[in-house]
Amino acid sequence: ATPVAILVGTGRGAQRGILITGPEAIESAGRIDTVVLDKTGTVTSGRMTVHDVVLGRGADRDEVLRIAAALESGSEHPIARAIVAAADDGAELPAVTGFRNHAGHGVTGTVDGRDAFAGGLKLAAARGARVPDDLAAVARDAVSTVVIVGWAAAAGMSPTARAAILVGDTVRDDSREAITGLRDLGLDVVLLTGDGEGVARAVADEVGIQTVIAGVSPEGKVDEIRRLQESGRRVAMVGDGVNDAAALATADLGIAMGGGTDAAMHASDITLVRDSLTAAGDAVRLSRRVLAIIR
Ligand code: ADP
Ligand code: MG
Repeated sequence: ATPVAILVGTGRGAQRGILITGPEAIESAGRIDTVVLDKTGTVTSGRMTVHDVVLGRGADRDEVLRIAAALESGSEHPIARAIVAAADDGAELPAVTGFRNHAGHGVTGTVDGRDAFAGGLKLAAARGARVPDDLAAVARDAVSTVVIVGWAAAAGMSPTARAAILVGDTVRDDSREAITGLRDLGLDVVLLTGDGEGVARAVADEVGIQTVIAGVSPEGKVDEIRRLQESGRRVAMVGDGVNDAAALATADLGIAMGGGTDAAMHASDITLVRDSLTAAGDAVRLSRRVLAIIR
């Protein structure tokens, strides 16, 4: 039978907007020593806006935004929403065939019979795209998230990068406080993101995280969790995205942000209904109390 303390703990959690799937989740939450945080939508709000469009030679801003938005309208990613909103001037977007979402990398499809993509430098390389030096430099050095947009000059040709769209969101108001709270519980905190090193460092500095792992794919996130586990750590992962689902399932404890995707919630042991990182610390504190009572 489930000890009463666990039932009470689960009930207390629910009252505070912490949905705990079962006794094992409380066990895990009470024992973790390391918390890995996704960046976008977890430490930051995930409500992104377009800050700037850096055009390559001969590119037209409206055309860049329209093609990017056409591709991104097939994605639910916060980056995609920002680009679709920025292009929304009432005009119809070009049709996309063969749409593909590459989780943690970007989106691809065929527009007007030509290969097109919107995503990071890795996606551009994977599409065999030529990226002019000025745009590559923007992508490397930016402290905001960069989406390279490119398309082929004609059907059957490889795409060329045409512009870099700079998007960003802001750190959640209570993230710094929440992370201080996690550290006060004796937990090591790691920032793990698919975004670039520059953006990741800037966010980490703002919230007081020292350990940053940037530029990792969704599979890379799983590898990083495993690596920490193999070094003897008991790891909680907090995330919101489709790109976090596998890592959330791999971690000893998966914690989903309530404002995130269904995929993240399904893969997790705990959901933070309040959509605030401070609830992660509350979940650990509550679970430790429950375990102390049982023992
Ligand atoms: P995070 O780990 O911070 O939540 P993601 O793994 O979702 O970030 O994305 C990592 C990177 O992949 C983004 O910074 C972006 O460069 C690229 N990316 C992901 N999805 C998209 C998309 N829909 N459009 C363009 N780029 C994308
Ligand atoms: Mg995310």
